[in-house]
Amino acid sequence: MVQLSSLSRRIAALLLAAAVVMVPAAADVAVAPPADAAARPVAAPLKNDTYVLSSYYGPRCMPVRSASAFHRGQDLGAARGTDVRAVAGGTVRRAGAVRGFGQWVVVDHTIDGVRFSSLYAHLIDGDRRVTAGQRVSKGQHIGDVGSTGTSTSPHLHLEIWRGGYGTGRTVDPLRFLERRGIDLTTRSIRNYSRSVPSSCRYYTAAKVNFRTGPGTGYRVIRELQSNVTLGALPGDESGVWRKVTRSGRTGWIHRDYVSPGYTSQGTRYVLAGSLNLRSGPSTSHRVKRALPRDAKVALLRTGYRNGVWQRVRHGGTNGWVSARYLALNRDGASIVPKPSGRTYAWVDTSTLNLRSGPSASDRVRLRLRREERVRQLERVTDGWVKVRHDGRTGYVAARHLTSSRP
Ligand SMILES: [Zn+2]
Repeated sequence: MVQLSSLSRRIAALLLAAAVVMVPAAADVAVAPPADAAARPVAAPLKNDTYVLSSYYGPRCMPVRSASAFHRGQDLGAARGTDVRAVAGGTVRRAGAVRGFGQWVVVDHTIDGVRFSSLYAHLIDGDRRVTAGQRVSKGQHIGDVGSTGTSTSPHLHLEIWRGGYGTGRTVDPLRFLERRGIDLTTRSIRNYSRSVPSSCRYYTAAKVNFRTGPGTGYRVIRELQSNVTLGALPGDESGVWRKVTRSGRTGWIHRDYVSPGYTSQGTRYVLAGSLNLRSGPSTSHRVKRALPRDAKVALLRTGYRNGVWQRVRHGGTNGWVSARYLALNRDGASIVPKPSGRTYAWVDTSTLNLRSGPSASDRVRLRLRREERVRQLERVTDGWVKVRHDGRTGYVAARHLTSSRP
């Protein structure tokens, strides 16, 4: 729609211009932009040769969890502190801090009778150089490139809203400026490739409902486990919902549960001397590698098959391990009482059985509750540790103990 209406406006402008001047026949020239910088309605937001065009306006794959799959602005990577200038004269609408964009400035303009807003995000300090309500001129220094908000390195995120910020729609800032005589692509140090991938790969960030539509009112197709692979198309979103494909079915997931990488569900440490990381959840699956005692692993999936097997990630490799050899703390394995001192641990589950021997078939002597303290008597062996509580001695599963006092 926007394309069409802007096209018809261009045609109208062409006809109007043709009535008074000779218009070159080039198809992509609407109105020849003024050659003289002062006569142009717009200016570049950053000085020539101070930036790289990194991420472009349009559909993309989500760069981080919860992010949009449609980039509403143009990113200009630049050194921290680089001057940011107003792309046109106008009135400052916002200046200060905002969630996500960090420190920002929004300026309202009227250009050729049309309302526009320009938005400058991730600045060092949004209200250091301008304040809301202030008039600014084209090219005026209004902020400084920073990396505040959701940003991994200093850059200016520039948005242009046709019809005003919040009420109108975003347009491609590069095209907006180029049509008015400022071609950012020829003024930059470098331009990254503009290609958009044909598909995106994501992972569920936690256990989540996979629905038939973009809202909690839609039917649940099924519950997905954490860290399962999802497919998607760039830009396929509806508000906070992302359209994804899992095992050939297409459905919707809330953006907070969609991540471009694995999301750890917790950290565990290997209790055994050498623990097999397997390709599947059984001892008949192939051993991918052996994990040493105390190795730190990230839990990818929890509660699978009663938690007997856990899907974990270690050193870039994913696999399955037997849950009984995982502890909450690194010193799960160093739970060795010093000859002189006493070592204590605390129950980290709602109830924990204290048994007569080191196996689940041994008789339960006592039920321990969360946060109760036990004294450790022996080294952990095969996931079991001998402890003492309230004058009674027995064995508990070491993975339900923590060495940090609640
Ligand atoms: Zn951006």
